[in-house]
Amino acid sequence: MKLYVVPTPIGNLQDITLRALETLKQVDIILAEDTRTSKVLLNHFQIATPLWRYHQHNEHKVLENLIEEMQAGKTFALISDAGTPAISDPGFLLVRACIQHQIPVECLPGPTALIPALVDSGFPINRFVFEGFLPPKKGRQTLLNKLKEEERAIVFYESPHRILKTLLELKNYFEATRKICVCRELSKKFEEIVRGTLDEVALHFEKQAPRGEFVIVIEGVH
Ligand code: SAM
Repeated sequence: MKLYVVPTPIGNLQDITLRALETLKQVDIILAEDTRTSKVLLNHFQIATPLWRYHQHNEHKVLENLIEEMQAGKTFALISDAGTPAISDPGFLLVRACIQHQIPVECLPGPTALIPALVDSGFPINRFVFEGFLPPKKGRQTLLNKLKEEERAIVFYESPHRILKTLLELKNYFEATRKICVCRELSKKFEEIVRGTLDEVALHFEKQAPRGEFVIVIEGVH
């Protein structure tokens, strides 16, 4: 009876930990966001553990059954498509339910996109705020207005089709000289780290159509 939360690579398959591999082999069932995506990873490492689906559209519905299965003695590993489950991914509902039912939970340390992005930025990051994905509409303006005064480094996720629009929008809130770092395709073949002022970085992506996955880091006010 246990839930393991297991981080998986955000790009480079070599980033999986030895303990993640061992855990994924030993558990009774792996809960995966997208079984097709996870099968690629599991086949690569010759892991044949049964896969069940656990994603944002069924996480409420399957919760009770998963708790019952764990109470009956089964051990589960929760994985997401990439990185650490529950970080801008499904997971927290299950972790909370396990805790409520006295089922042990263990999150293994491992890959996540926000940490390498923060370190790559070169900004002071002893303290930082992680905003996940910015709200698309409601609350976005209020949040950005609040963040422009933030003293800690700010880190958030953005999709390739919105990155340029967001960078241009940030210019309405932050000074054009504010330092920013955009990390693209971390740990992958076409990894790119673009550092500079907000103006410079926005210009870079205006010239070159953004592709891939992105993390944005903004230096705090000081
Ligand atoms: N659970 C993941 C984690 O621990 O980082 C995050 C999942 S969230 C659905 C996906 C977002 O994470 C992407 O849109 C992108 O902003 C960021 N991301 C994931 N992999 C990345 C990578 N290799 N390079 C840059 N950003 C990445």
